[in-house]
Amino acid sequence: MSNPRQDESRFSDELRLIPRWSIVAAVVAFALVEYYFWIALPAHAHHASRLPFALHFYLLLSWGILAALSMLVMGYISIDAPRRGMSARLWMVCVLIPGGVGVALYFLLRTPILSSCPSCGAYIAGDYHYCPQCAYQVAACCGICHKTARITDIYCVHCGHELAKDHPPARLHAFGN
Ligand SMILES: [Zn+2]
Ligand SMILES: [Zn+2]
Repeated sequence: MSNPRQDESRFSDELRLIPRWSIVAAVVAFALVEYYFWIALPAHAHHASRLPFALHFYLLLSWGILAALSMLVMGYISIDAPRRGMSARLWMVCVLIPGGVGVALYFLLRTPILSSCPSCGAYIAGDYHYCPQCAYQVAACCGICHKTARITDIYCVHCGHELAKDHPPARLHAFGN
């Protein structure tokens, strides 16, 4: 169904959503974390780290990258959440939950992107079958039980209704424009 090139361009489209302020915040966060661990902290430490230098270097670099990444994710969510009808503020705070739990939750729980009705322009969520403002059919569904139908289905998988008998046929109406 979806080819890799399409997925790739979709991913770079998503990256383009990241606002400038969060890129700046990411650079600042990285610099601050590195400054803290390399310059501020050793000045107060009474003993040097016993870790091998390479491991020490890797660990401190990861903390900086982690801080920068959370800034980027916050920026992404500030744009992504509103277009899904979700609270941007709430989810931007959740990003700060340690261990990436908040970030994982966001990507698991986020609702589909709202799109606009081809007929009247009202916002419609990804799981709607009909526009709430003008009843325009936005997804293929059975004419009897109104559950989702696939374009390749001949009979409704929920009630057995023959989809071609609908006027206009649900599966054709939704994909015909
Ligand atoms: Zn509409
Ligand atoms: Zn049905």
